[in-house]
Amino acid sequence: MEFNFKKKFGQNFLTNRAIIDNIVNSISPSEEDLIIEIGPGGGALTRNLKNYHANLLCYEIDEDTKKYLSELEDDKTHIIYDDFLKRDIIQDIEKIDYDDLFIIGNLPYYITTPIITKMIESNIDVSGAVFMVQKEVADRFSAKPRSREYGSITVFLNYYFDVQKLFVVGKNNFVPKPNVDSAVIKLTSKRDKMEVNIDNFNKLVRDAFQFKRKNLNNNLKNYDKEKLNMILDSLGYSLNNRAEDLPCDIFVKMTNEYFK
Ligand code: SAM
Repeated sequence: MEFNFKKKFGQNFLTNRAIIDNIVNSISPSEEDLIIEIGPGGGALTRNLKNYHANLLCYEIDEDTKKYLSELEDDKTHIIYDDFLKRDIIQDIEKIDYDDLFIIGNLPYYITTPIITKMIESNIDVSGAVFMVQKEVADRFSAKPRSREYGSITVFLNYYFDVQKLFVVGKNNFVPKPNVDSAVIKLTSKRDKMEVNIDNFNKLVRDAFQFKRKNLNNNLKNYDKEKLNMILDSLGYSLNNRAEDLPCDIFVKMTNEYFK
């Protein structure tokens, strides 16, 4: 591949066909659906995604990839050469008539969390998403309570999605070869989310995890302890627990009770 790879855009292109197939096969859109691909690069995933004959909208920041991507465009496949993080996604997709929305991407690692945050904050109704991310990040996103990797980002993601780590992809499957291994994660939207004020929830979760080794009593010292104690007790926990002991639904219930 004659391409001037740009480190600043996190360009590591996938070369292993079996892995490309596995990633693309982890979503199952119909022809009436819309797939958004973030960072198509040389089109490794895009070519396979076209076999679904769904609507396909790709965001690619680097216009140099046009030499690979322009031949993939047709009446159902569109490429927007721009920074995904700066786009108004609602506006971009409003003219497309579709049933369900899937998002997929071998993500540029330097902006994995901003991309996922943007997807959530854009308020688009995503059925499912499949992303390749750094292996350590995949472990954090899919961690279970009481594990070392479980943190505030795990809890945030868990509010919106069931998070599954699908498989690990070794660094030898990319050109140029990155320094770290990767993993593919699948996010499936939770349709039965409990209502919560997101700002309060985010604040409580962030505060609770402020110092990883400290318990809730220490990390939530600016909160009304008596109130918190009563709430935690009713949920089967106490201020002696650490944030990492609490599953996402307990944080939601805590938020709802504390801020009501
Ligand atoms: N999908 C290709 C593959 O799997 O071989 C390329 C994946 S590469 C890890 C990430 C891609 O995201 C690159 O093509 C890069 O130019 C693009 N990219 C980086 N930052 C971006 C941004 N802010 N918005 C859209 N695309 C971006």
